[in-house]
Amino acid sequence: MVNRREFLVAAVATSGVSKLAESKQATDGKGQLAALNMRNAHGSGGHPEARREGPTSYSAQPAHLPPGCVKVGGELGRRIDMTVNKNVLVLNADQDFLKPLQERTWKSGYIGLGKLIDASARLALCTGDERVLTLKRHIVAETLKTQEKDGYIGYLLPEHRVWDLWDISEMGYIVYGLTMDHRLYGEAASLEGARKLAEYIIARWSGEPDHAIGDNIVPTRMAAVGLENAMLALHEETKDAKYLAFVRDFRKIADWDGRIVLGRWGRIEGHAYTYLAQCIAQLRLDRLEPDPRLLGPTHDVLDFLLNRDGMTITGACGDQECWHNTQEGTINLGETCATAYAIFWLDELMRRESNSLYGDLMERLIFNTLFGAQSPDGRRLRYYTAFDGPRHYFERDTYCCPNNYRRAIATLPDLIYYRVKGGLAVNLYTASSTEVGLDGDVTVKLPQETEYPSGSQVALRVDPSRPARFPLWLRIPAWCPSPKVTINGQPSEPPAASGRFLVLYREWKAGDQVELDLPMTWRWVKGRQGQAGRVALMRGPQLFCLNRARHPELKEVDLRLLVFDPASLEGPISDESVRPGGMAFRAKAWKPGAWYPLEKPDFTLTLTEFPDPDGEATYLKVPNPEDSRLVADELLTPAAKPRGAQLR
Ligand SMILES: [Zn+2]
Repeated sequence: MVNRREFLVAAVATSGVSKLAESKQATDGKGQLAALNMRNAHGSGGHPEARREGPTSYSAQPAHLPPGCVKVGGELGRRIDMTVNKNVLVLNADQDFLKPLQERTWKSGYIGLGKLIDASARLALCTGDERVLTLKRHIVAETLKTQEKDGYIGYLLPEHRVWDLWDISEMGYIVYGLTMDHRLYGEAASLEGARKLAEYIIARWSGEPDHAIGDNIVPTRMAAVGLENAMLALHEETKDAKYLAFVRDFRKIADWDGRIVLGRWGRIEGHAYTYLAQCIAQLRLDRLEPDPRLLGPTHDVLDFLLNRDGMTITGACGDQECWHNTQEGTINLGETCATAYAIFWLDELMRRESNSLYGDLMERLIFNTLFGAQSPDGRRLRYYTAFDGPRHYFERDTYCCPNNYRRAIATLPDLIYYRVKGGLAVNLYTASSTEVGLDGDVTVKLPQETEYPSGSQVALRVDPSRPARFPLWLRIPAWCPSPKVTINGQPSEPPAASGRFLVLYREWKAGDQVELDLPMTWRWVKGRQGQAGRVALMRGPQLFCLNRARHPELKEVDLRLLVFDPASLEGPISDESVRPGGMAFRAKAWKPGAWYPLEKPDFTLTLTEFPDPDGEATYLKVPNPEDSRLVADELLTPAAKPRGAQLR
């Protein structure tokens, strides 16, 4: 038996999801992840050429660029600006977020203050907007003023503190927000406040380790969601071992096996956002103190999402906040917190394994379910984003989902580029630019010009401060069957292949021009489970949907009974109803009960981008569910799927 620590060190030398699979085998010896191993063969960033080429190790783990060094434009930048100007800056922070802290009269509740501190700090940094910085400073200063002598920051009456919902979680996020304020701005008072609050939590909870939290109506990990990540962040910031010990020895997060529980029942064991937050804490602890048990739940969540229908076509997971595999997609699909945490978790995995699959999954989530959770004017946010039936906005600015939405938007600049040892990786395509120092005193500017996701061309200019040899990684999406990459007009060597990172390792000179052509042919993607026999329209990373409000002729029609002719599709056509520069398609459909395919179709209908707030149908019925023109979702593991019985 290989020593587990040695095994993981060895595993880091390979790349791709297989590391998790192998580590899992080391844990339980079942080796059930053949499907994910298969993906590694075509989907991972395994770079044998790197080892041939020279001293730069391509298998080194990617890292974030320094905070604030990416300027974001394009659709991602537009969403950031809209979230700042139409949402964050119009909040009534004094009334909704700070007044309860100043009064401290609640018996239970949730506000999301720490999440807002984190989001506003990041948004201020990435936009350079003084108004956001002023808001962040105001919220932090007012928050710290309310800190009591014992360290408490919160809004509960003394007799309800710690043990009533959601005090521990709220405090945990305040610790996290204040810690990030120190990391991003060096604010000493914030770090001091975070430490005092963390010590209050540790003292109270470890003094009564068996005390029931929230009357045990939810699992402790859900009542405390976010706390472990906050303590680990505080440990990273202070190097103080007691925060690490709290996570490892008191919370014992390696002991949680993360078994997937379907549906919402009992104590709500299968809470997706909680699982993803716990998985992130486990991966972060594993970086500090490797333990194969910490990889098990991440492995199971990946397997559930990709092999067992846990992920829907929008990238969202979970119904009514909990794991589900019906693919139903109705009213309570995809809690926004779970969407945000899926993105954070994929970022963690990307930095661990440099697998382009994680970038593919990120862009599916970002362009569809994440942007679908915000109104086109930016003001309103959703708790859930259905793909079947009407969608609803959440009525409050406080609570979990609106604040995790703001955090997810604030994190987008970190996901575009990654530092890989000696070079740079481009993970997301959007108009943007960065300037970053590489090894050997070389600085490189990397402006990215593109109309993505409307346009399929991406132009990168590589401008090193002096000629220098380093790798440039480009994520080639799995949806693109015929990618082409040129350098200064010459085809790249090696050529681009879909579903992996293309690694260009060469001597770069100022003005070198890299052009990506990622043709976005549309595709009809087959539905699964409750959507069997139906198809959804995708183009590149984007999903399209049917908006009833745009078609008065559909007023009384059950959209599930329409039948579409896949061969009638026209487009893409320019359509700015959802966003500037947006796209739409047109397709013909038969009314319910029509004698298709012999009768003439009754309607010509427009399919708009999924964030269309009036989108009500995404999976459309077609005459022939086995039509050879219909394709499987490229992000799911092909071939036979292992089913639940094989797993445990
Ligand atoms: Zn939520």
